[in-house]
Amino acid sequence: MRAKKQVSELSEENIKKILFVSPELAPFSKVGGLGDVVGSLPAAICKAGADVRVLTPAWGSENGKGGVLDKVRSLKNKLRKVTLPVVVALGSIPVHCALYEAEIDGVVTWFIECPEFFSENIYPTYVDSNAVRPFMVLNLAALELYRAVKWLPDVFHCHDWPTAILPIALAWHNYYSRLYINSKSVFTIHNLAHQGIFKPEDFFYQSGIDSNCFNPYGIEFYGSINLLKGAIIACRNITTVSPTYAAEIQTYEGGVGLDDVLRMHSYKLTGILNGIDTDYWDPQTDENIASTYSANATKLSGKKINRGELIKRCSWEDDKRPLIVCISRLAEQKGFDIMLPAVPRLAASGARYVFLGSGNPNIEEGLSFAQQAHPDEIKFFSGYDEELAHLIYSGGDMFLMPSLFEPCGLSQMISMRYGTVPIARAVGGLADTVFDVDSGKSGNGFLFGDYTQDSMLSAIERAIILYSDDIEWADLMKRGMKTDFTWNKSALSYLDIYKT
Ligand code: ADP
Repeated sequence: MRAKKQVSELSEENIKKILFVSPELAPFSKVGGLGDVVGSLPAAICKAGADVRVLTPAWGSENGKGGVLDKVRSLKNKLRKVTLPVVVALGSIPVHCALYEAEIDGVVTWFIECPEFFSENIYPTYVDSNAVRPFMVLNLAALELYRAVKWLPDVFHCHDWPTAILPIALAWHNYYSRLYINSKSVFTIHNLAHQGIFKPEDFFYQSGIDSNCFNPYGIEFYGSINLLKGAIIACRNITTVSPTYAAEIQTYEGGVGLDDVLRMHSYKLTGILNGIDTDYWDPQTDENIASTYSANATKLSGKKINRGELIKRCSWEDDKRPLIVCISRLAEQKGFDIMLPAVPRLAASGARYVFLGSGNPNIEEGLSFAQQAHPDEIKFFSGYDEELAHLIYSGGDMFLMPSLFEPCGLSQMISMRYGTVPIARAVGGLADTVFDVDSGKSGNGFLFGDYTQDSMLSAIERAIILYSDDIEWADLMKRGMKTDFTWNKSALSYLDIYKT
């Protein structure tokens, strides 16, 4: 009763207040594009006129390099411990979490510390009711946050299945569904392939969510819990990260088993194209690269210095062959099941290939074999390396992205910003951002359609041929570099959604 009074008092202020709840936040905790988005979109929406704040876990040490809080401090951000802790209930056990606050790029950001749950790995390799417990803590903490910080959002903006419990709780939690009658949730699908599916076991007891929602019209999915499905049904608005992906996920081929649910809720689904942090990804100021440069003709020579540096890092001599680069999570989604069998043809294509990535051990092994078999054509850097990624984006000539599916993809935008021309499959957000050179004057890359080696190799071949024409190639690079990849337009689209 007391808590109910507090909520209604706090929500009387008439300002659009949005809380982003996210498992990742670049540059402190990032596995892929989701981290980048949450690291840059809130500031853009704040500029567009809303009060956006972020809640994310203070994950522990990562590769022994220090945890999230250490990284926040090391980047000279002032971190303050909030006096009150956040306490959530898992079953009958209270979990006490410390809360830290920092202002990052003008955005109030709360880091929730609870070493028992937020240890080293962000995502579990195997999802079951035990493995989702850290996310249970994160989501319930978002609902308890107002007590510690005296700030109550109008909208909870959640990202992917690790934050699906929040919209589910707003609809079906035994306590929070009554407490938060005026609060709404927006749920962004960054990747439909990951849904958080597991057997219920003690989930309902631990989370406090009413088990009556375990039915086909709720979170049940073929006898298991499907958190993403529950969020799609429970949230007020669904967004996904590109218009083409919004259409693809409503088809049988692209719906990963949820196409019918998404079609049923299409009235609240919008595709909003991601942007990138153009201050962070800027070849004119990037401190991680050997030489800064811009699209200005005279200074573009700086890109050649980075190219030379990258060739050195690969222990190669420059023999003028084009460098085709690829920075990626090593996952099937990213096209490795057409790239790996094509290795002998890639090696004979007249280009050299540089890969940076970590993930699936079979793909890592495949890339290591490729490097051993073709040491002068293929280089594989294994692992996650932010600094090296900058050098590769700036030193490459072309960026290869033959994804099976791609919700939005940020790498093709980053590479274009660095004058590295994308060769991509026309799918999802790639189809919304890469336009083929042969399709008209606004072409900025090379596209292919079929998910086959042949189709990919013919796009690579077209790129290699055009690369030998210095003038045409320089024009192509500059077109990509001058494209607007900022969040400005998309931030307004999010604002419109919050206003509804
Ligand atoms: P996804 O979110 O599916 O992984 P995106 O293209 O949207 O793909 O975003 C990938 C982001 O992660 C980019 O910023 C890319 O540079 C970065 N990235 C991926 N793998 C690595 C890696 N091994 N080292 C450094 N950065 C990486």
